[in-house]
Amino acid sequence: MIEEIEKYFPDMEIISSDIEEKIQKTLAKADFNKTKDDVIKALNKEVLDFDDFCALLSSPAKDLIEELAKRAKKEREKYFGKNVYFFTPLYISNYCENQCIYCGFNCKNNIKRAKLNFDEIEKELIEIKKSGLEEILILTGESRVKSNVEYIGQAVQLAKKYFKNIGIEIYPLNTDEYSYLHKMGVDYVTVFQETYDKVTYEKKHLKGHKRIYPYRLNSQERAILGGVRGVAFGALLGLFDYKKDTLATASHIYYLQKKYPHVEFSVSIPRLRPTVADNSINPNEVKELELLQIMCAYRIFMPFINMTISTRERADFRNNAVQIAATKISAGVSTGIGEHTKKEKDGDNQFEIADSRSVDEIYKTLEALGMQPVMNDYVYVG
Ligand code: SF4
Repeated sequence: MIEEIEKYFPDMEIISSDIEEKIQKTLAKADFNKTKDDVIKALNKEVLDFDDFCALLSSPAKDLIEELAKRAKKEREKYFGKNVYFFTPLYISNYCENQCIYCGFNCKNNIKRAKLNFDEIEKELIEIKKSGLEEILILTGESRVKSNVEYIGQAVQLAKKYFKNIGIEIYPLNTDEYSYLHKMGVDYVTVFQETYDKVTYEKKHLKGHKRIYPYRLNSQERAILGGVRGVAFGALLGLFDYKKDTLATASHIYYLQKKYPHVEFSVSIPRLRPTVADNSINPNEVKELELLQIMCAYRIFMPFINMTISTRERADFRNNAVQIAATKISAGVSTGIGEHTKKEKDGDNQFEIADSRSVDEIYKTLEALGMQPVMNDYVYVG
C-alpha cells in the first residue's frame, strides 16, 4: 500500500522540502508523444526545458540518435574537454536488511555474507592504490546493525590516507550523520532512488528502511545540509517506464541544483543486470540504443553534470559513452567483498559485471582514443 511507504520510521529525520512535490508536478505534465520535428526543435535550442527533454527521450528521437550524439558530444567538450574521471568501488560489507526483489544482496537471498574488518579494508585500499587511482567509492549493503555509521566513518578515515576523493554509497542517513561522515572525509554521497513511481516502488521494496520512499528521496538534500560537496542520483532502468524515471531523475537534480547551486551533481544510468538470485527476464528492458539516448538527453539538458558509466556495460559501449556523454568511468572493478586482496572472496557479488578491464587497460584505451584520463582534479586548500 502506498500509505505504508510514506510513513517514516521513528529514527528517520523529516526535513521540510518541496523537492518531491516539484518532481511529481513535472511528471504530471510529462508528454513523450512527440514528433520528429519536436526533437529537431529541441536539438536546436540553446537551453532546453522539461518538454524538450521529453522530446529527446521520445521514440522519434531514436531515429535521430546521430544528431543527439553530436550535440551531446559538443556539450560534453564545452564543459569537460576530453577529461574522463576514474574511480573504483570498494564493497566493504554485503549485509542488508532490505528486500529489494531485483538485488543479489536482498536479505532473503541465501548468499555468502561478509564484512571486512579495518585491517582487511586497509589491505584492500593499499592494493587498489597500486593501480594509481585517487578516487574511491565505498559501498555497503544497507544494514545499520552490521555496518553502523561509526564503522563506515572509520573506513572513510582509512580511505582518506590513500585517496583524494571519497564517495559513499550506503543506506540513507540523517543530516547529523552525513555531517559526521563529511568530517571523516566523505566528499560525495550516492543514493539511487531506483524508481520514482510509487506503485512500482512499493512492489519492488518489500521490507526494511528502504521501503520508505520519501526518506530515500530526500537523502541527497540531507547530505547537502550535512555539508558534502557532491551528490549523485540514479534510477535503476528497467524497473518501471524508463522515460518517466529518467525525467523524474532529471527533475530531482534540476530542482536541487536550483536550490543548492554550489553543489556538484552527478547521475548514473544503471540498467537491471542478472544477479546470483534472479536471472529472470526484465519486461521493461532498456537496450543499448535507449541507454545511449538517455545519456545524450541528460547531457544536452544538463550539460554541466557529471555522468558515470558503470561496469554493468560492455567495454566497447563504455569506450564510446565517455567520448559522447559520460564523464566518469569505474575501472578495476570487483563487486564482491575482499576480492582485491584474496583469491577466495569473502562475500558474493552484488551483480555481474560486463567490463572487467584493469585501470591500466582502460587508461591506455582511452588515451589511444584521444581522451584524457584524470585521477583527481580536486585540491584541498588550507
Ligand atoms: S539494492 Fe541495496 S538495499 Fe536493496 S537489497 Fe540490494 S544492497 Fe540491499
